[in-house]
Amino acid sequence: MLFGGKAIVTAINSTETVEKARQLHGASASAINALGRVLTMGVFMSAGFKGLRHKLTLIVNGGGAGGNIIVCGDCGSKVRCRMDDPRCFEGEEIRPVNEVIGSDGRLTVIKDFGLKEPYNGTVKLVNGTVDSDFAYYFTVSEQLPSAIATGLKLADDGSVEAAGAVIVQPMPNCPPDIVETLVEAVGNIGDMDEIVATHTPTQMIEEFFGSFENKPLQPTYPAYVCSCSREAMERILISMGRKDAEEILAENGEIEFHCDFCHRTQKFTKEDVEKIFEEADDKNNDCDRK
Ligand SMILES: [Zn+2]
Repeated sequence: MLFGGKAIVTAINSTETVEKARQLHGASASAINALGRVLTMGVFMSAGFKGLRHKLTLIVNGGGAGGNIIVCGDCGSKVRCRMDDPRCFEGEEIRPVNEVIGSDGRLTVIKDFGLKEPYNGTVKLVNGTVDSDFAYYFTVSEQLPSAIATGLKLADDGSVEAAGAVIVQPMPNCPPDIVETLVEAVGNIGDMDEIVATHTPTQMIEEFFGSFENKPLQPTYPAYVCSCSREAMERILISMGRKDAEEILAENGEIEFHCDFCHRTQKFTKEDVEKIFEEADDKNNDCDRK
């Protein structure tokens, strides 16, 4: 927290989280370089979520080679992601982020706090480079003009050596001269892809913002966590309805659900399906009696 709360600067190390995403999706260098930056924004935006029912969803559809990206986040920066084509540009030199994401499309942010209507904000992509697109989103949709610099560096073996970001958000009461000072400080950061590989979050803040009046806030610890479960798949099965489920069983012998976020599958046999619908019927009858 800078200048007694007039601005917040956040420094992120998302290396392990992004590397987990790369491994799970078998992502190419170009794909993870783009996807990892959006995932890091998911880490940032779900860090402040407090309730277990609070859910963040980021959807980026820019028409690039990687196709659509979805990032979901739960409280405390527990995130997961999927991308239509995580193998785009496989075996090629690393391509610019906006070739993977595309620049003709939208960024949608959904924040569900368990209330009636989730918050939903959509902006046009500025250029598909992530930093400018999210900065524009914060300015337009949340009235928080923000400076965003994501960084990502790959090791020679293709794994993620470092990923992270620095995000500066002046609060609405921030005087113009402080905003100017912060804009200048962000301008001096330099090559973020190198900075994330050589600095811890604390070092980033000390080096670039340490000369300003500041107070550290509680850190959060990001991780790649998928919330899918057999129980959740059972609920999807029930929502399909008995007739459709039986049709698939007749055709395939079993029903298989695949999670796009962690690539786990859940298989349901004919016996499983019968049991699930019987239990669901019993529950409904209980409700009717009540
Ligand atoms: Zn999953």
